[in-house]
Amino acid sequence: MSDQWLTIRRELHKIPEIGFKEFKTQQYLLNYIHSLPQEHITVETWRTGIFVFVEGTVGNKTIAYRTDIDGLPIEENTELEYASEHDGYMHACGHDFHMTIALGALTDIVIKRPKDHALFLFQPAEEGPGGAEPMLQSEPMKTYSPDAIFALHIDPKLPVGTVSSKPGLLFANTSELFIDFRGKGGHAAYPHETKDMIMAASTFNIQLQQIVSRMRDPLKPAVVTLGKMQAGTVQNIIAEHARVEGTIRTIHPDSMQLIKDGIERILSGIETRFDCETSVDYGANYYMVHNDEGLVGQFKKSLEGTSIHYVDAPEAMTGEDFGYFLKEIPGFMFWLGVDSPYGLHHSKLNPNEDAISVGIEAVTGTIRSV
Ligand SMILES: [Zn+2]
Ligand SMILES: [Zn+2]
Repeated sequence: MSDQWLTIRRELHKIPEIGFKEFKTQQYLLNYIHSLPQEHITVETWRTGIFVFVEGTVGNKTIAYRTDIDGLPIEENTELEYASEHDGYMHACGHDFHMTIALGALTDIVIKRPKDHALFLFQPAEEGPGGAEPMLQSEPMKTYSPDAIFALHIDPKLPVGTVSSKPGLLFANTSELFIDFRGKGGHAAYPHETKDMIMAASTFNIQLQQIVSRMRDPLKPAVVTLGKMQAGTVQNIIAEHARVEGTIRTIHPDSMQLIKDGIERILSGIETRFDCETSVDYGANYYMVHNDEGLVGQFKKSLEGTSIHYVDAPEAMTGEDFGYFLKEIPGFMFWLGVDSPYGLHHSKLNPNEDAISVGIEAVTGTIRSV
């Protein structure tokens, strides 16, 4: 693989930035994009993202490729010489790989222009608060109005040289969940004069799991997980505030609404019973990733005669911002094998860089064949 892509990946890896704060990243990408021949390309920024339109030689349709560009608030623990220079932040989800692959594919497409137009989307804030939905509604997106869109995500569990996808559902509908409980705290020995928010939050937690077991259609899979709970100050004061944080995942979009309605009903019961106030915030919500059958078929076909190996992917309860694009534009997402012992969002994630050239080949091949 050319040293150029290694250098770019490592330089991007050093400067992870979180959603809508990708200022250095955007500038880095723009510097590179401006170094390419400009005759047939149009570059437009959108917030901290970028659109690059490449005019095709014939131009009957427009094929879009989207990369996410944000990092995560995770302290890197890889001890690599090109580890993050931003304390407390890391490209722990491989978006540095995704961007490098996008620049590699863009370069190839600019130099050997395909017959159809290509649109490269550098999308901010995939990890949160969610950049896909506003980018989809943006003016440049309406102007370019692509006929198809696709994206990839690195997969640490797959070997290098392998990609995987599936027609239909790939990733679930997801929503974050943040709930605050507030009541009157007080002395631990006088519970009758207080409203105990640890009891309120604990009661909520137990009732919450009954939504999935008792309210949801058993044929419509769903998961509700609380991953964090915080309350109180010291052992002898009844807590006046408790907070729980979690996530909801469903295979069907209607189950998501059903679960949120259930949460709100439980909370109104908690308010009555514990004489407290509650507030709920759903944070980032991602629409399911539903792959177009025909386009996945064409993608598989584009890999024939290459050294890239295709395997069928299972559907997963993970979420991906990209689903919003697929709600309105036919397209698909695929996994790119990067063979790392540590998973996505792990502080030791270290994807194999040999996968970058595989990614570039798969993306350019798709743009040229879809
Ligand atoms: Zn991620
Ligand atoms: Zn990611």
